[in-house]
Amino acid sequence: MADGLKYTGVALARVAELRRDKAWLEAKLAAAETRLVPVWRGHNLVAGSANDEGRPSAVSVSGDAAAAAVAAAEDLVLLGLDDDVAYFAADLSSQDKDVAQALVPTGELMNLRSCGPLMSHGEAALLAYARAMVHWHQRHRFCGVCGHPTENRDGGHLRLCSNPDEAHQTFPRTDPAVIMLVSRDGDGSGPPGCLLGRQSIWPEGTYSTLAGFVEPGESLEEAVTREVLEEVGVRVTGVKYRASQPWPFPSSIMVGFWAQAVTFDINIDNDELEDARWFTSVELRGFGEWGQSTGNPCLPRKDSISRWLIETWLEEIGA
Ligand SMILES: [Zn+2]
Repeated sequence: MADGLKYTGVALARVAELRRDKAWLEAKLAAAETRLVPVWRGHNLVAGSANDEGRPSAVSVSGDAAAAAVAAAEDLVLLGLDDDVAYFAADLSSQDKDVAQALVPTGELMNLRSCGPLMSHGEAALLAYARAMVHWHQRHRFCGVCGHPTENRDGGHLRLCSNPDEAHQTFPRTDPAVIMLVSRDGDGSGPPGCLLGRQSIWPEGTYSTLAGFVEPGESLEEAVTREVLEEVGVRVTGVKYRASQPWPFPSSIMVGFWAQAVTFDINIDNDELEDARWFTSVELRGFGEWGQSTGNPCLPRKDSISRWLIETWLEEIGA
């Protein structure tokens, strides 16, 4: 079931062994059937309701339009092959928006954060992958060791320092964050429950599982235990991995866990959370849909692993 998480399942062969072959890359870039996936300042190319289900779909460009976009792109990244057709991400961020949009008029440059939840899994995954790779290039234009400019290599999967004395290398990175559904068993004091919190910047009423970045020098399980204690003052045990999800907003991988509470009193860290509560399954089933502001509690975004963790917990404990 975790296979169904949004932003996973890119249907391309990543062909790492071909990335270093410059002649092959150039031939693929020049090929008429090659597809270009434009990215402009965190936006992807999307058609509003171009498919039968009337939902947004990913748009890639080929032929003359692709050649124009290649010429205007600051960075190109080989995403992979679909059979023999190559897909490249093209970073158009150095262009003004109207110029970038005019280069790729067959779709609209949109933020994946807003259209991702409505898209098919495969298309959302492709756009997320392109967005994440372009974001990495934009943040690594200079060497972190010596400060020289870096250059795009290996089909966009390496940035190489231009210092003639040192060839420092930087590889694409993603930042691990843990996200956890903390539950309590039902007992004499009440039914089973799970612990959800909300940040003040979220849409009104939205509650989600707790989450936080992994720090150097700790395991993922230790990060779960620490984050829950820091954010709500609850101690947990039985930390168990469930699933993971790339989260390209901008560059995380969310590693999802379940954990069992051994203390139940909530003591909120107000710098992180506005509220945190125990909810029963009955309460959760009465939650509203994300983004529909009714003033009542509502579930997290449909495309999030938080939502998946909550839904699988509800399935597990049954009615
Ligand atoms: Zn360097």
